[in-house]
Amino acid sequence: MKHEDTLIVGAGPIGLACAISAKRHGFDPLIIDAGAIVNSILHYPTGTGFFTTPELLEVGGHPFTCAGEKPTREEALKYYRGVVRAERLRVLPYTRLTAARRSNSGISCRMEHDVARLHRSVIWPPPCPTNQATEQEIQTQRLVLATGYYDNPNSLGVPGEDLPHVRQYFDEAHANVGLDVVVIGGRNSAVEAALLLYRAGARTALVSREHDFSGSVKYWLRPDIENRIRAGEIVAHLGATVTTIGQREVSVRLSSGATQQLPADHVYALIGFHADFELFRRIGIELDPESGVPRLNPETLETNVRGVFMAGSITAGRETATVFIENGRLDGEKIFGMV
Ligand SMILES: Cc1cc2nc3c(=O)[nH]c(=O)nc-3n(C[C@H](O)[C@H](O)[C@H](O)COP(=O)(O)OP(=O)(O)OC[C@H]3O[C@@H](n4cnc5c(N)ncnc54)[C@H](O)[C@@H]3O)c2cc1C
Repeated sequence: MKHEDTLIVGAGPIGLACAISAKRHGFDPLIIDAGAIVNSILHYPTGTGFFTTPELLEVGGHPFTCAGEKPTREEALKYYRGVVRAERLRVLPYTRLTAARRSNSGISCRMEHDVARLHRSVIWPPPCPTNQATEQEIQTQRLVLATGYYDNPNSLGVPGEDLPHVRQYFDEAHANVGLDVVVIGGRNSAVEAALLLYRAGARTALVSREHDFSGSVKYWLRPDIENRIRAGEIVAHLGATVTTIGQREVSVRLSSGATQQLPADHVYALIGFHADFELFRRIGIELDPESGVPRLNPETLETNVRGVFMAGSITAGRETATVFIENGRLDGEKIFGMV
């Protein structure tokens, strides 16, 4: 079995920051990611602007400059891949951790390679397996989980949500021009998508369980969405629940108790994400049953499983909006500054 002194799972901003901390404290980490480097940012909608200023997104002290006041998705992709190159981080992309088991000799980590993609994807310096194996086991002394939440969309739990015209990610509006589109959700992603869809020329309806947008939506989006709704340009059903999704329509129970059918060529169910709690449980990590918050030593971020650490947004359990890049990027120092 192959050995690595430190394995970091997740090449998001926090995984990369952890890897830099590990290197600076004398370790030689291997980072694996189920997708590409900063895979979550890669899957933000095209043209997304960050709400955070660039200096707060920096990792490893590498300066982040951007054309405007705040960076775009595209500038962030360029920045983080530059960091990987500058730090000569060993990243193995398209490789998913599926299980890990603690024994007296260390932690055995089982991973699956997406061979079709990995074969052509060699990131500095080439760490790819030489054969075509789809699975591999690596033994490590330190396992850092920085897996985020963006891979696991929350489910509506209604019939029809698996139909092919129902999507859990919004990429861009253009493909919806001239169509009837229903956006489900009442937070930033849903509101931003509804505004982009309306402006691209989609007939847009927004369905949200929330009764208003206070507290859940960025302050600059709120007047925009409220004015579009007031003008009848976006049809909004607030305090409403989706009950069924059909081939061409969405059934909604309105706040009055009545039911309404909304025409829908495309449906975007943008109702948030959750960490891979199942993976954490399989590894033996104890989670608070309500909040999903893992049992961690707050000073070292070590879990109840010796040698297994957690970093970034997953430390917040279901409260995904409380730990982001700005306040998660120093987690690597907690982990590697103490060992
Ligand atoms: C549209 C949008 C805008 C945002 N704007 C901002 C902003 O302005 N400022 C800010 O601070 N935050 C922002 N965020 C939130 C920010 O993206 C997250 O807080 C941040 O990405 C969390 O970093 P992370 O490294 O913990 O997780 P992620 O960036 O999600 O990285 C986790 C990585 O782990 C990989 N992974 C998951 N499971 C496995 C597995 N089993 N095996 C291998 N790899 C795995 C994933 O592929 C992913 O690349 C925004 C989010 C969205 C959706």
